[in-house]
Amino acid sequence: MDELEDARFKAMVVDDDPSICEFVEAIGTDAGLSVTPIVDPRNFKAAYTADLDLIFLDLHMPTIDGIQLLRFLADNQSQAMIVIMSGVEEDIVAAAENIATDHGLRTLGVLKKPVSVDKLVSMIDLFKATVAKSSKAGFADGLARGGSDEFPSLNELRDVIANRGLEIYYQPKITLGKRRANGAEALVRWNHPSKGYIPPDYFVPFAEKYDLIDDLTEVVVETVFAFHQDWPPTNEPIHISINLSQINLADLELPGKLSDLAHKYGVPPGSITLELTETGLAKQSENELDVLTRLRLKGFQLSIDDYGTGHSSLARLSKMPFRELKIDRVFVDRCDTDRDSENIVMNTIELAKKLGLQVVAEGIETESQLTLLTELECDQGQGYLFSKPMPKDDFQHWYESQ
Ligand code: C2E
Ligand code: CA
Ligand code: CA
Repeated sequence: MDELEDARFKAMVVDDDPSICEFVEAIGTDAGLSVTPIVDPRNFKAAYTADLDLIFLDLHMPTIDGIQLLRFLADNQSQAMIVIMSGVEEDIVAAAENIATDHGLRTLGVLKKPVSVDKLVSMIDLFKATVAKSSKAGFADGLARGGSDEFPSLNELRDVIANRGLEIYYQPKITLGKRRANGAEALVRWNHPSKGYIPPDYFVPFAEKYDLIDDLTEVVVETVFAFHQDWPPTNEPIHISINLSQINLADLELPGKLSDLAHKYGVPPGSITLELTETGLAKQSENELDVLTRLRLKGFQLSIDDYGTGHSSLARLSKMPFRELKIDRVFVDRCDTDRDSENIVMNTIELAKKLGLQVVAEGIETESQLTLLTELECDQGQGYLFSKPMPKDDFQHWYESQ
């Protein structure tokens, strides 16, 4: 499981200039890739494997040039995405790209030398977005066709929910002022025995579409409550956040069900936060407001998730019974490099505080983001800088050793 969660994209950089190899390796590793550097292109064929996801290829090298390597990749029907790196004239680069495409290779783009950090990072982001799109589409397609080689069927989704085969990972939630975890967010995972790890972004929307989301939520809630019940009394009490789907709010019985479960597991409802995305809240009906208010009356805390991606005004949201607001990670990601994002983050924190909401920044990955957010007096944060989501035992060890 651990290595599945950590499963990194496999990348390779081929360049006779060792400093470029080092550069791509360093930035790529930071961005979550596992990068193999190849300085001598004669070693490329031996190092090549069919499961490579991304190849950065220099065109102009001694002994073997990039075009020869493209031909090798084509002969091996490589599925890797290819980024051509070159300092040579544009027409040569364009010709190389054509050769690659003509041979059925997947070219992602071109990086002109000298390659800047920003350009390299955007290229890696583009790679991730392209992969996410194609595999998400593949998942949807597989599901619709009753399963495929790569993806499971709708019945398997139904079964894994019914058999409680889904797993919950926990990501620490940090109080920024103290730099200490005060709780965790529970995130659902599907580890399929033969098809591997499937992220929630793929299957949660289908659980919503095929009327499985109430069951999924119940499984998540019970698993989390059981974990909460087992939390050693010698540790500080733990606070856990759970993601709800908008569709869950159509169930008028939800507040009663959650409250009964909390009672059954001896969990104080005040130690549980229920997160709802801002986009869902934008089109809210009367019933939903009713359910939210009753959840609050039962003692659960409520949080607005992914704030900034929808178009609801904070003033309107503040009339609902929320206690917390989570700034979406797209803004956090750029808050230290992009003025607009910095302003959005700053204004959101200021306004949220005026409205008496706790503010959480999602997706903190760097020290400089953390420094800025701490300066802006953001209350809490989550992100890879502190920790990735972990299985429950790992989370508990992490928490106890902080
Ligand atoms: P979310 O609620 O916004 O959860 C945060 C997501 O950001 C998680 O992805 C987490 O792994 C990821 N993340 C955390 N820190 C960082 C970081 O520093 N950098 C980056 N790039 N990502 C970070 P995950 O676990 O794949 O979940 C995706 C979404 O699936 C969640 O977004 C949530 O909307 C949904 N989801 C997850 N678990 C459940 C669940 O039990 N029920 C429901 N209804 N939805 C869930
Ligand atoms: Ca969330
Ligand atoms: Ca979120």
